[in-house]
Amino acid sequence: MALALIPTPPKTLPTSIPSTSTCSVPAPFPSCHHLLFLVKDCKTMTQLKQIHAQTLKTSSPSSSTLSYHTLFLYSRILRFSTLHDLHYASRLFNAIQNPNSFIFNTLIRAYASSSHHKSHSLLLYHRMLSQSIVSPDKYTFPFVLKACAFLFAISEGMQIHARILKLGFGSDAHVNNSLIHFYATCGYLDIARKVFDEMPQRTVVSWNVVIDGYVCWGEFETALGLFKEMVGKSFEPDKFTMQSVVSACAGLGALSLGLWSHVYVLRKFSREVADDVLMNNSLLDMYCKCGSLCVACQLFEKMPKRDVTSWNAMILGFAIHGCVDKALDALDRMCTVECLRPNSITFVGVLSAFNHRGLVREGRMYFDLMVSKYKIQPRIEHYGCLVDLLARAGFIEEALDVVSEMPMKPDVVIWRSLLDACCRKNGGIEVSELVARRIFELDEGEGMSSGAYVLMSRVYASANRWEDVGLVRRLMGERGIRKEPGCSSIEIDGFVHEFVAGDTSHVHSKEIYEALGEIEERIALMGYRPELSQAPLVAELNGEKENSLRLHSERLAIAFGLLNARPGAPIRILKNLRVCDDCHTVTKLISSVFGVEIIVRDRTRFHRFKDGLCSCMDYW
Ligand code: ZN
Ligand code: ZN
Repeated sequence: MALALIPTPPKTLPTSIPSTSTCSVPAPFPSCHHLLFLVKDCKTMTQLKQIHAQTLKTSSPSSSTLSYHTLFLYSRILRFSTLHDLHYASRLFNAIQNPNSFIFNTLIRAYASSSHHKSHSLLLYHRMLSQSIVSPDKYTFPFVLKACAFLFAISEGMQIHARILKLGFGSDAHVNNSLIHFYATCGYLDIARKVFDEMPQRTVVSWNVVIDGYVCWGEFETALGLFKEMVGKSFEPDKFTMQSVVSACAGLGALSLGLWSHVYVLRKFSREVADDVLMNNSLLDMYCKCGSLCVACQLFEKMPKRDVTSWNAMILGFAIHGCVDKALDALDRMCTVECLRPNSITFVGVLSAFNHRGLVREGRMYFDLMVSKYKIQPRIEHYGCLVDLLARAGFIEEALDVVSEMPMKPDVVIWRSLLDACCRKNGGIEVSELVARRIFELDEGEGMSSGAYVLMSRVYASANRWEDVGLVRRLMGERGIRKEPGCSSIEIDGFVHEFVAGDTSHVHSKEIYEALGEIEERIALMGYRPELSQAPLVAELNGEKENSLRLHSERLAIAFGLLNARPGAPIRILKNLRVCDDCHTVTKLISSVFGVEIIVRDRTRFHRFKDGLCSCMDYW
């Protein structure tokens, strides 16, 4: 019975659409089978419209008694037109009196995949439900959920989830994958995980969507944990899995796992995948962010194809390593040798390269060149770079001028970089107060201003205004604002070890503190005395200034690295905050006393400590 419903192509193949205009004897209407065959071979909308016209001669889509074959023919015409002319498709859809679920799904899918009409797929889904003639099926949900994810339509997506369960599609892998993607995209990682955990059957795609969800929200360790579980359960990672894993390694600064991923890609995948520009861009970004600039350069030179993103990754890589000349060389090669047009991200890289070296004149020049020569309108990120560059170099007034003249409203990030500079460069209490006020106004209730409170208390403390320090502290307490804790991580043999300031939770804590004691003894012999102004103010009250400094998280991570890293291999540390002056001095001394290279990625850049010096040349 079912077989008889599937249209079969005609035995003799029509070579063109029969013409009815010139023959004296009217030609017979081509059959539904003929037309269906023609749709399959259709190349242009003009051809499709001719077929559509022929179809209309035999039966109108508004007829309530369309045969299955005619309905199938209309669905094919609709399918083709969704790919080439969505407006035409929607008009055809509206003319069909009794669209079946396949026809609904075709247009829902087209809207969900379009760049501007994603919300139409939800409207169509709603129409499908309200007409109650056809019911959504397992092919409907993935597309409406895709639209919900794009539109961040949480409550609509949740209603769809409820309907999925009601209609009994709760165990379908494809539908569940779409649900995981929807929840993860909208930031509901816990629900995404619940759907994933409760799936009766998972596919590689299920693992990919859940891993990618965690990577997108910066939960790299969970992503890597899931990846290990996936491999342990004998699922073969594909190129999408590996791209997410490489991004997680970049986020965590986990170089050895990143290297392992690169080898895996080279060994397991075809040449085509290994040469894929997206894959290579992820690897490039990973090597740059893990502090392996040399490997990044080698990979970059060997890439068979490079796009603007590849050049941007390299320029940003040079910038965070403080290699301003190489960043400019890359910009020049990109424009003159490969004839690629730099975009706004390219200039974020170029400007931050100047920022990390404190090159104010050059930074201003390239900011102007970006507009005049490359016709790129500066965005808030570019103004952010310029303000930070000026302020950190001590030109606070000029930085404030840029802020007041920029065409868009400065954001919290810009004000925070200004306050940071005021604090470090003694920008004055009045200016600091003005800047802090802007931060508190913008960040009301967002909880992102804890750094501003801490900086303000430092500003008051440096002016010996202890009453104001107390006031700031009280405000922080009343408003429930906590200082963001310093946190450093180090990867040893594929495992990431994390330390917070004063951490004693590590299983090898005893050995770590013994190593820390030995470090202190040896650097004291070199003449080291702690820079107590960097200690937290609260430690002042408890007389624990020195102790609080020695327990900064990166020192614990470095001590752990000295105990466990392979001989001769650099110690790589990732820190969530900016390195303080005292830790910078200590790390330089350790690199000299222990003859070890230490690479620290802090919130803004890389520091490469070797033989008692740092690659940032003490400007950071
Ligand atoms: Zn420190
Ligand atoms: Zn440094």
